[in-house]
Amino acid sequence: MQFLPGVGPRRAEAFERLGCSTLEQLVRHYPREWLDATRFVPIADLRPGGLLTVTGTIRHAAALRTRGGRGDLSVTIADATGTLHAYFFGQSFLARTLAPGARVVVSGEFDPIDRRMLNPLFEVVEGDLESLLHAGRLVPVYALTRGITARGLRSSMRAALAAVAEQMPDPIPADVAAAHGLAPLGESLLQLHFPATPEALARARRRLAFEELFLLQMVMELRRRALREEGVALALPPAPALVQQVRDGLPFTLTDDQTRVLAEIAADLAQPRPMHRLVVGDVGSGKTVVALLAAMQAVAAGRQAALLAPTEILARQHGATLQRLTTGTGAQVRVLTAATPAAERRALQAQLDAGEPLLLVGTHALLEDKVRMPGLALAIVDEQHRFGVRQRASLTAKSVLPHLLVLTATPIPRTLQLAWFGDLDLSVIRARPAGRGRLVTRVVDESKRPQVLAFLAGELAAGRQAYVVVPAVEESPRAELKAAETEAERLRAHPLMRPYQVGLLHGRLKPDAKQAVMAAFQAGELHVLVATTVVEVGVDVPNATVMLVENAERFGLTQLHQLRGRVGRGRHRSVCVFAASPEATAQGRERLAVMATTEDGFELAEADLRLRGPGELWGTRQSGLPRLVLADLLRDEALLIEAREAARGVVRLDPQLRAAEHTPLRGALQRDFSEALALALAG
Ligand code: ADP
Ligand code: MG
Repeated sequence: MQFLPGVGPRRAEAFERLGCSTLEQLVRHYPREWLDATRFVPIADLRPGGLLTVTGTIRHAAALRTRGGRGDLSVTIADATGTLHAYFFGQSFLARTLAPGARVVVSGEFDPIDRRMLNPLFEVVEGDLESLLHAGRLVPVYALTRGITARGLRSSMRAALAAVAEQMPDPIPADVAAAHGLAPLGESLLQLHFPATPEALARARRRLAFEELFLLQMVMELRRRALREEGVALALPPAPALVQQVRDGLPFTLTDDQTRVLAEIAADLAQPRPMHRLVVGDVGSGKTVVALLAAMQAVAAGRQAALLAPTEILARQHGATLQRLTTGTGAQVRVLTAATPAAERRALQAQLDAGEPLLLVGTHALLEDKVRMPGLALAIVDEQHRFGVRQRASLTAKSVLPHLLVLTATPIPRTLQLAWFGDLDLSVIRARPAGRGRLVTRVVDESKRPQVLAFLAGELAAGRQAYVVVPAVEESPRAELKAAETEAERLRAHPLMRPYQVGLLHGRLKPDAKQAVMAAFQAGELHVLVATTVVEVGVDVPNATVMLVENAERFGLTQLHQLRGRVGRGRHRSVCVFAASPEATAQGRERLAVMATTEDGFELAEADLRLRGPGELWGTRQSGLPRLVLADLLRDEALLIEAREAARGVVRLDPQLRAAEHTPLRGALQRDFSEALALALAG
């Protein structure tokens, strides 16, 4: 960086704070936006509204003292048609640059009353107007840091581009660039920072966004390939008697979707290549039993299967359900959580070490290194959105290469699925089991609380149960606990609730206490369960018919959809009430209203993506993949698909990226994605 004119050790340090230690990194510091200051007018034609540019000569400049301030500067600019004032707040130091006689280009919004522009963009011009940086063009606007001004950064950027842009290795292979009509890297960087025209900017943005998506898809393709073509897994014979036996013992018949997805999984498991499959199915669509039957294929082959659940409650609930569904078949289902006593843990570890066939259900505790599963043939991760690539990898690292099945109730918009889960095959369960009662959604204001409680009491009187959910307060577990406690107290104190038991479930309870509360609710001893969302995922109590969500505007649509899925599981009609707090904005209420219009999780996920952006939905940070800067998963779906095709083509022809023309590509992947690639290869 210090090779740049005007950059010494101090400014180099400031640049480092922006993540720019080298010129190559600096030219990758893309503008946040561009100001369109390309409309040149004679001074006499200046009109208010919009950014206008004039060219003129400074006639007069006056530094003005201000009380306590750094002093303002007022200059008068003239062209052949008239004069204009420019006023610079707190920038009297500009007097040296903006001296009488200087020829300047000034861009700003015109104030007709004082005939002036406030703090306009400006540039002193010596020669022609071609080389303008700061005014009279599409002006790049960057994220800054202390010690680096907008003007300073633009000047450094131009010098850096001149020094390195043309020599930078282009990660996009020439044939890919040609096939997709992409300009060379150097030219694109120049045009992105200092675009000649809006069209040139659009082309440059597309080219560089393509590059981001292409690298991401390369990672996905290399992972896919590493697993599918180079990974060796144990082939588990399909359709063993045990699977049929468990299936025959189910208290229901599988839906068509369940049957189809199960067949897809069974076929994968029968291959000597590791399965890598994502099952997306709405809450209540019956993913657990599909996972169970898949696990039975492993157990029947004399192997071990593991089911990883995101919470203690869910792990125990799954354990109990699966034990019940396998009773009498001889298949072993065991549970391991942080709360499992040491002696039991040791006995279980001995069984695992001996390679006894069993299905082990557990929480994060399963991921610890000290839990060894040498016989692990199938790893199942429930509610994937709670786990990142990292955790997926540590589970699959427990044996040679187990098959991997990921279950999620969060429908993934197509672009996100391609972008971030492109290394997984996809199975979808759309239909919910028949014979369920109707599920009605209502959005109400807090002022309707009396009516809501009256309705709730009516349901309780009819023998049903209810959830009341308060929003999690992520920054403050204490505040969250308080909110839940307050809500429980408020309900207990209500005259209509007097005959009923109100339980409280939140993230700060000890596992045993949580389990006790949950068991009491499941057994019908508690009638109302007040809960924070941390414990909500996957809970299954068919007798619960009311879901009341307080301050519902604070939740994402997908999250609300998940909460809604807790009810409507039995044959009774269920009602889901989303109560907006008095502080909810009109926009927040509108968002809630979307919930009442559709029950389709995929539709809601698309809406959520639009309303909240991808990061909120699928914590990018934990995914182990880098952030997209220019590419936008909403707008750039077509580009993403192009990038994927391109990546597939490259990996098909040169899976090791050994060809000379792929050297820059390999370099870029190693530099930016080494972690994601290493994890992929590990798992
Ligand atoms: P999720 O997909 O949300 O994990 P679960 O697996 O918890 O859903 O299933 C929800 C409920 O539906 C459970 O009580 C389960 O026993 C029941 N269920 C699953 N499959 C069927 C089916 N084919 N017919 C009827 N009920 C089913
Ligand atoms: Mg589930």
